[in-house]
Amino acid sequence: MHIIHVASELAPVAKVGGLADVLYGLSKELVKTGHEIEIILPKYDCIHYGYLKDLKPEHRDLWSFEGNQRYHNTIWSARMENLKVFLIEPHHPRYYFSRGCVYGCHDDIDRFAYFSRSVLEYLLFSGKQPDVLHIHDWATALMAPLYKEVYAKRDLKIGKTVLTIHNLEHQGKCSSHNLSLMGLKGEALMLPEKMQDPYSPSLINLLKGGIEHADVITTVSPNYEREIKTLEGGCGLHTALQKHEKKLKGILNGIDEEFWNPAKDSKLAANYCTRTSGIKEVLEGKRRNRKQLRKHLGLEEKDVPIVAAVTRLVTQKGPHLLHHAILKTLERGGQFVLLGSTFSSDIENSFRQLQKQFSKGRNAAICLDKDEALAHLIFAGADMLIVPSLFEPCGLTQLIGMRYGTVPIVRSTGGLADTVFDIDTAHHVPLDERNGFTFDFPDTLGVDWALNRALDCWFKDQKAWQRLMLQGMQKNFSWQKSAQDYLDIYTQ
Ligand code: ADP
Repeated sequence: MHIIHVASELAPVAKVGGLADVLYGLSKELVKTGHEIEIILPKYDCIHYGYLKDLKPEHRDLWSFEGNQRYHNTIWSARMENLKVFLIEPHHPRYYFSRGCVYGCHDDIDRFAYFSRSVLEYLLFSGKQPDVLHIHDWATALMAPLYKEVYAKRDLKIGKTVLTIHNLEHQGKCSSHNLSLMGLKGEALMLPEKMQDPYSPSLINLLKGGIEHADVITTVSPNYEREIKTLEGGCGLHTALQKHEKKLKGILNGIDEEFWNPAKDSKLAANYCTRTSGIKEVLEGKRRNRKQLRKHLGLEEKDVPIVAAVTRLVTQKGPHLLHHAILKTLERGGQFVLLGSTFSSDIENSFRQLQKQFSKGRNAAICLDKDEALAHLIFAGADMLIVPSLFEPCGLTQLIGMRYGTVPIVRSTGGLADTVFDIDTAHHVPLDERNGFTFDFPDTLGVDWALNRALDCWFKDQKAWQRLMLQGMQKNFSWQKSAQDYLDIYTQ
């Protein structure tokens, strides 16, 4: 099969969050099965070009359109490991992808709508006829209606379209004029059963357009699939998702086990795994990484646990609960490391205040940054990883943490509930498959309940703690099974 992924992120070249990891891990696994996989991305100026090999212009003369203007684009091709990557560089007067960022511009809708249309122009121009066009989230969701309404009638042949919802919160709301600029009949699509936003009837909703027009919809965990069909979890799109539930499927994300591998990870102070001498090697490996982490962050070297969080600091991730977890951990005599990328000045300011408050002590490190190397060292050096999300489609950090022997403490929601089973309360799961601590309600009492039990276990029962570490490390979170689930869908 010939499968083309079109997305706004790809790890490690253009990563904001989990979408990038999923594109990378899933595509690598699909290539191993012998299928032809291609990935198309915008050519951001902030791409980490060092990872790309054989980068060269493939076509210099691709035209695309915005309203009655036409613009020139260069299509670049490159290889990244076993992946074939294409980058679209628009020569557009608004420099859509020369902004030093992936998202966060006032005209994000225009940027990604233009990209979506240019990809279809490229497929038409190049004669590519993929069996599957796989699009991801709101940024490329427009391709489904654009293909069905315009390009299918212009001799572009695509087998089927698959839309994956990585996060339903972001939907791409805009005016019907934005659709008209892309060659669609904006006003005609402004209907409840088409692309009209359910909350703001004067707006178009791009993700809804993808839901209505894609042949198959997937999302990133079975539990999130259930949640998004409810009023509470549907972000306004529950009715559309209920209507299309026959074509909706939840497939649990995996992690790339080569990239996230404590036995080989070059960003660690020491590598370790369970294979040679079991827990002894893991404890020694984690001890050396913990030491390096403390040294790097100026934390005091002492025999207490490190609780960590590696996260985007946005409302979804429960920043107020992280704030509380920091105070609670310190009160209980532990240390806390937060690596958080900030997007809102309010959230940033509240953590900057904490930073100041703890600047004299050497028990908390609050790094308001995006730092891949530090993230790896934290996963290896920390003892516990806390994820107090208000909602979480799948969540990858709890999976990565477990692979590195770091015990997760999570709010039981979305994919977190599919992957972390509480040692005390997950009675539906055998004892030897329980792997962490969970809480149900996203409030400070919930955090206290789970965090206190985790800290008690670490301080009072190291044997039980080590069992939890091993149970997490031995669990298979690779892409193998999930990639097969995607292949089954493509084959259907
Ligand atoms: P989301 O996609 O909602 O951000 P996930 O848990 O699915 O959350 O994926 C987050 C990915 O981004 C993980 O690979 C994690 O290590 C990485 N990440 C998140 N925040 C940071 C940060 N501040 N610095 C480095 N990596 C980060």
